[in-house]
Amino acid sequence: MGGVLSRVSAVELPEAVTRVLDEGQAKLVEGLSLIDKCLADELPSTVVLKTVGATIAVCWLGRFLSNTWDAMKEEGVLQSAIEVLKSLPGISGIVAREKDKLSRKIKKQVMEERYEHSKVPKFNAIPQKQMSQKQVLQAIDDINSKDETYEDGKSMLSGALYFSSADHANFQTKVYGKFVGTNPIHADSYPSVARMDAELVSMTASMVRGGSEAVCGSVTSGGSESILCAMKASRDWWLARNGLGIVRNVMKALPWRKGTVKPEIIMADSAHAAYIKAASYYGLKMVVIPVGEKTGYRLTASAVRRRITSNTAIVVVSAPSYPHGVCDDIEGIGKLAAAYGIACHVDACLGGFVLPFAEEAGFARPKFDFGMPGLTSMSIDTHKYGLAHKGTSVVLYRCKEIRKHQFTSITDWSGGLYISPTMAGSRSGAVIAAAWASLLAIGREGFISQAKHLLGLAEHLAHRIDSECAHLQLLGQPDSSVVAWGAVDRTQVDIYKVNDAMTKRGWHLSALQKPAGLHMCITPAHSVEVIDRLVNDLKQCTNEVKAGAEGGEEGMAPMYGMAERLPDRNIVGDVLVAYQEATLDC
Ligand SMILES: *Cc1c(COP(=O)(O)O)cnc(C)c1O
Repeated sequence: MGGVLSRVSAVELPEAVTRVLDEGQAKLVEGLSLIDKCLADELPSTVVLKTVGATIAVCWLGRFLSNTWDAMKEEGVLQSAIEVLKSLPGISGIVAREKDKLSRKIKKQVMEERYEHSKVPKFNAIPQKQMSQKQVLQAIDDINSKDETYEDGKSMLSGALYFSSADHANFQTKVYGKFVGTNPIHADSYPSVARMDAELVSMTASMVRGGSEAVCGSVTSGGSESILCAMKASRDWWLARNGLGIVRNVMKALPWRKGTVKPEIIMADSAHAAYIKAASYYGLKMVVIPVGEKTGYRLTASAVRRRITSNTAIVVVSAPSYPHGVCDDIEGIGKLAAAYGIACHVDACLGGFVLPFAEEAGFARPKFDFGMPGLTSMSIDTHKYGLAHKGTSVVLYRCKEIRKHQFTSITDWSGGLYISPTMAGSRSGAVIAAAWASLLAIGREGFISQAKHLLGLAEHLAHRIDSECAHLQLLGQPDSSVVAWGAVDRTQVDIYKVNDAMTKRGWHLSALQKPAGLHMCITPAHSVEVIDRLVNDLKQCTNEVKAGAEGGEEGMAPMYGMAERLPDRNIVGDVLVAYQEATLDC
């Protein structure tokens, strides 16, 4: 070893250290006596109080700066500056008045749409005199006259409607009718429903067990509830193993850290909105990774690895993603999760009853099952491609050890001993029975031919857009039943105006942002004819928009245009809230 240290002999070293220590001690004594001199005239109690005061002030300042820093990081510098500006006296009044004006305008639009052409009076209180059942049914015929209707195979909606036929829908309703009064929370009173509930979980698990008998789960009210349940269970499973770590708790105790170190959830910006809901409900810190053209709109293992910290509790992968219909690198990310001991949730809400049958349907598609390392939970929607009435989904876990963190068990409640598996208390047994019946009535063979139909149509749509629509380009290569596209040159074609033109022709496509795009979620309610008509209308609408024939103040294009260009994101949020309020009130 070279350098100064090696030339200091073993005898010299202790001497040198002693010298340094002595000098340090002398300096310290000197400093302390200086402080003593300054404080000579102060009472000891004043000294103590001043010290306490100064300590609190420093901690408070640290926390204030840390809070401000976090808020700036979350909102961005521009948004933070806008918020300060908007709160200034004089300006805040103008902002409030404009918001109010906007709310009233939105409310007026919603109300006109709802009541203008209806002969049925508005019921904002229970009618004093009872109406006959016949009168009520007549009122319903008036109210639902503007709802979407369709013939088998001819839906013009993206997603939304998954039934293959009116016959299957009627069969569902028949089963539903037999169980309307039942409630699985009283399993002893309705053993039939409890049995179907358990079998529904097991039948769903059978598609993705991957050889593991330990896979378990529960029935929920829909994809969002499955995701909320999985996020709660995953967070608590992770906390049970990591929540007591020394480093974690020292970090938590630091006064400028606000007493919390939140568990983190890593997700792509293409992950479903329900994860953002879960993060806000369960106090998770979101680590959002943007996906783009470079990775084919997939979340990659290398991007996830870079964002893993000691606080990472959950990573989410989609199979496929809602916006672009592509599967993330499930295998690679699962392996990472296994290596770091984090939960990995597979969102198969959309792909659940499709991709497990892809191989048998003759399509090579990404695989996922609990035989793969690291995958800890999955959400699969029976009320989408399980072709069941709306109101059920299944959440699955690798093992009971994780699932138990989803339950709420209360042993000292005055209402008795209580346990419930999901967010709901009472549930309808009717939706469970209908979903159970749907899986039996379709069978594996039915699902295989359904996968053939869906994957074939998706390939057909993607191919036609790719080869025939010069001004449009696919956003990712579809892995399942969703096909997404945007404009090649956004200055020439405003894709949102194309959407408005398509809406005028009766289509209901889904709008995407970042990047601007549209998607079609193909269901058994679609056919080759529908897809061909879609492509032809799309070509015509794109040309109209390019020629400048379409557009104006109507439709959703101005709204999305504003959402994209406006630096103030919170105004866009205000508009959404105004819309939600308008729809909830009458
Ligand atoms: C539909 C969907 C969800 C949410 O399901 P809901 O049933 O609408 O609550 C979650 N993730 C993906 C990928 C979906 O397509």
